Amino acid sequence: MKYIIATHNAHKLAEISRILAPLGIEAVTDRDLGIALPEVDETGTTFAENAYLKAASACEFSGLPAIADDSGLAVDALGGEPGVYSARYGGEGLDDNDRNNLLLKNMADIPVGQRQAQFVSAVCCVFPNGDTLRTEGIVRGEIGFAAKGENGFGYDPLFYVGDRTTAEMSAQEKDAISHRGQALAAFAVKLEEYLNK
Ligand code: IMP
Repeated sequence: MKYIIATHNAHKLAEISRILAPLGIEAVTDRDLGIALPEVDETGTTFAENAYLKAASACEFSGLPAIADDSGLAVDALGGEPGVYSARYGGEGLDDNDRNNLLLKNMADIPVGQRQAQFVSAVCCVFPNGDTLRTEGIVRGEIGFAAKGENGFGYDPLFYVGDRTTAEMSAQEKDAISHRGQALAAFAVKLEEYLNK
């Protein structure tokens, strides 16, 4: 069965396709379908709200069940920042590397032991009949003092789980512990229940 994945982030798409493939889900993008999903204003104040906005818009536009993830990094000592603004931290025109440097700068005075953070992922699937499935996943870790590792994307090179960053893990290792891995695993269970109803 075809599901449109409402993202332009190639890394997220790869993670989502990989994790949902065993369920027989064929993950397609707007580009695969020869359409262009409209940009969605992420006006929600929670990851769950933004995931719903993206999935609902993609479902309405494509006519297919649509899956969206909204995710980000929340640093305890920064009161949960960058949070829902993770992709836009520091404003337009910055790349992942710039955002990582900005975060390191903003955390320069925060000592070891107080650098806890979490990645959060909200997954939402909206069906053409309006039915909606939602799940969430969280992984806790600590922000390092320098980027380390070449894998993954975004804040992965700063985010330590144990003695390695998520950018030092293989895709499979990251999926097994990650916020998105957990949200998608929970989603897979819900979807199977829903389809067998
Ligand atoms: P979204 O596309 O609006 O959900 O933005 C998600 C942003 O959060 C990304 O651009 C990354 O900066 C960050 N992020 C989310 N998930 C991850 C992850 O698995 N690793 C590293 N950064 C992540």
